[in-house]
Amino acid sequence: MDIREEYLKFFESKQHDRIASGPLVPDDATLLFNNAGMVPFKSIFTGEIPRPANPRATSCQTCIRAGGKHNDLENVGHTARHHTFFEMMGNFSFGDYFKEEAIAHAWEFITEVLELPVDKLWVTVHDSDDEAEELWMKHISKDRIMRLGDADNFWSMGDTGPCGPCSEIFYDQGAENFNGPEDKMGGEGDRFLEIWNLVFMQYEVKEKGGERIPLAKPSIDTGMGLERVVAIKEGQTSNYGSSLFMPMINQVEEMIGKKYEYTTGASYRVIADHIRTAVFLLSQGVNFSNEGRGYVLRRILRRAVRHGYLLGFRSPFMYKLVDTLITIMGGEYDYLAPKADAVKEQIELEEARFFKTIANGIELFNEELKNTKDVFSGEVAFKLYDTCGFPLDLTEDMLKEKNLALDTAKFEELMLEQRTRAKAAWKGSGDAATQGDFKELLEKFGENAFVGYDFTEHSGEVL
Ligand code: ATP
Ligand code: MG
Ligand code: MG
Ligand code: MG
Repeated sequence: MDIREEYLKFFESKQHDRIASGPLVPDDATLLFNNAGMVPFKSIFTGEIPRPANPRATSCQTCIRAGGKHNDLENVGHTARHHTFFEMMGNFSFGDYFKEEAIAHAWEFITEVLELPVDKLWVTVHDSDDEAEELWMKHISKDRIMRLGDADNFWSMGDTGPCGPCSEIFYDQGAENFNGPEDKMGGEGDRFLEIWNLVFMQYEVKEKGGERIPLAKPSIDTGMGLERVVAIKEGQTSNYGSSLFMPMINQVEEMIGKKYEYTTGASYRVIADHIRTAVFLLSQGVNFSNEGRGYVLRRILRRAVRHGYLLGFRSPFMYKLVDTLITIMGGEYDYLAPKADAVKEQIELEEARFFKTIANGIELFNEELKNTKDVFSGEVAFKLYDTCGFPLDLTEDMLKEKNLALDTAKFEELMLEQRTRAKAAWKGSGDAATQGDFKELLEKFGENAFVGYDFTEHSGEVL
């Protein structure tokens, strides 16, 4: 079953216009990457631009959640359901239909098109939302409807703007497969798999902290993760076990001569995830750099290379997965194939760059581990960053595996010092020669690198 196509066709049959996915880098300076299906429609929802003639739309949006408020980078490798790059299918009503139809459409798609067994489905509603509960009771029994609070089931675009309660649909993958203590709806476990979020935009907040004013024409925004549904339909309890990821995992198995297993296979999953993000970003014109989005891309690739190193790779390997990915996704995203050669070249170069210093870095890291009780030295983390090209979050990821904390304050202090030094060097001279030096300094350590780090940690976000 081509789930992406079935979804879009289904909503076209309900009078929605099919809209192509927007770019990963949105036309919105407050956002690092497009992280949800509604992002391209944001100004229609806020009323900044007029509603289209047809107030119903459907799309399958490429998303990245690797920074800002929605950051799933740390989850990759650890959960069975998170990716840095994924596709979000959605249907949207711009002041047209509301809760009743949104719920009815979702139920029809899930039970009649996807044919998911009703006895595995659960839904959640916001604890204030009697209306949604009542509407759901037309389809599912009351004991399958859970009420959750703001943290799980209230959505807002930001401090101001449209907001409202949500309702989420979960698929129970069975206690026999999962028995973690947090395997509850809205929890961190994977047993109750969240597949679809229906957002009921029914209020507006005009000023920060102000009251929620009911909207005259409430709207609908929904988001359903393609990879999760594909996995369910293929009988997999992990997204990574599906045909969207296994070809890459199988290729890594072959290259390295070691079998993948779920429990020990985090590195394979990180690689299969990160190659998607890297290829899509590079194909859309984001390049490796020391700042902003390009630095997120660099961090992602270096993280994958480090996992490759753990598996035994000692030279570039990621670029060899590009064709495999394009075989899976190039049909839908036709801009990938023409870029394949350039993308492979960029990835191989970046890998080669990191393979030059990674062994030294890992040795330095392991040496320091011997001196570490609970908190890893901020000086060494800085040295790793500065001389071995280890982004801070890579070191943090390595420490997480050992259950160790990091002296981030010291790291930041050293980072700031370096930046101040670079600035002082700038002020102290007017001649071109020193300016050249300064430029080099900046490129190597200075402001740019810091901005990159800062930007990803503190970028504003919608959704
Ligand atoms: P979760 O609680 O599992 O992290 P979420 O509540 O953060 O998901 P939403 O923001 O509601 O997710 O996004 C809508 C849908 O997009 C989710 O129901 C899920 O199917 C999918 N989705 C969200 N984040 C990811 C991700 N990192 N990887 C894959 N699919 C995702
Ligand atoms: Mg999430
Ligand atoms: Mg959730
Ligand atoms: Mg959700």
